[in-house]
Amino acid sequence: MRKREFLGCCAYGAMNLLTARPLPPRLHEEVDAWLHSGSSGDELWKWSTEALFAEAAGDSIHCLKCPNDCTIPVGGSGLCRNRVNVRGKLYSIAYGNPCAVHVDPIEKKPLLHFLPGTRAFSIAAAGCNLACLNCQNWQISQVSPKDTENQDLMPRAVVSECKRTGCASIAYTYSEPTTFYEYAFDTAGIARREGIRNVWKSNGYIEETPLRKLCAVMDAANIDLKSFDENIYARLNAGKLAPVLRTLRIFHEMRVWLEITNLVIPGWTDDVDMIRRMCSWLCTNGLDDVPLHFSRFSPLYKLNQLAPTPVKRLEEAHAAAVKEGMKYVYIGNVPGHTAEHTYCHHCKKMIIERRGYSIVTQHVKGGKCSFCATSIPGVWG
Ligand code: SF4
Repeated sequence: MRKREFLGCCAYGAMNLLTARPLPPRLHEEVDAWLHSGSSGDELWKWSTEALFAEAAGDSIHCLKCPNDCTIPVGGSGLCRNRVNVRGKLYSIAYGNPCAVHVDPIEKKPLLHFLPGTRAFSIAAAGCNLACLNCQNWQISQVSPKDTENQDLMPRAVVSECKRTGCASIAYTYSEPTTFYEYAFDTAGIARREGIRNVWKSNGYIEETPLRKLCAVMDAANIDLKSFDENIYARLNAGKLAPVLRTLRIFHEMRVWLEITNLVIPGWTDDVDMIRRMCSWLCTNGLDDVPLHFSRFSPLYKLNQLAPTPVKRLEEAHAAAVKEGMKYVYIGNVPGHTAEHTYCHHCKKMIIERRGYSIVTQHVKGGKCSFCATSIPGVWG
């Protein structure tokens, strides 16, 4: 699919786009001067804001946002492509300029224990701090905000559109929200004050300090745990496992509702012994209540030559997770599979029946199983 076609699919068609073009609240005069100096010719000047979590390193700047630890020279940009060093200051160029805006069922994130049946106003700006061979959104994740078609949607406008479209939450998703942190953080703060929840769909590749600050405004997160092997993380994702495990622990400790997605890729992440070790780690770290989604891989991007994950292998992963002690385990991207429903961990009865992203029946009342009154972990409204 061509970039323009893809973005057309992502774009929120019914959006009443703003015609006014207000300046971002944190537009810095140096960016303004830089962009008016004629040195750039960059039409995206209005979307710059001074980046959080950065420190000087001589003429360069050390970005402290994620474990990539970029040191960025003047005129350069970080690996995520949306942090630039302008005259010794670091700026995000992804503030108020989402390249994808859409209304999604919350189940699509996937979040199955968080306000089921509601919709999430979903936004993304271009950029990512990993480089997964299987990326399903590579057209927007592996480019700069300068390369995408963007909308004009400042934080207050995001919240207004969320309310206008009857969404219960705003989801920061599709690409990697850590790379548009400033935009997401400011939007989430306004949303909170307006009674709207915030959802973080992420690879979990973020440093501890920005993560803890983020937890103050996030209500739920779905984190991709891409494998349980440092070597695979390095080769498949250009990242590291340990920071992602730390992220899982912090979200849980900070009481942000957490669910985990593990994409099972044939020949890469489908080793059931590794999955067993991963689940053992989750249980040992008190995350046995966290819903775990085994997601089916489809051939994509640089792994286009692989076959889709056999359903049998997903079922083996599911069985291994349950055996290790995970209480709420799902299989995703296999429409009609019995593991897309929720079963009470205590009485084993089906308490939420789903068809795709829709809910058919629900037997959770006041956060408890209607059959045996066991508390079901989650945020139920
Ligand atoms: S957020 Fe971007 S610039 Fe900062 S360390 Fe990560 S990849 Fe590098």
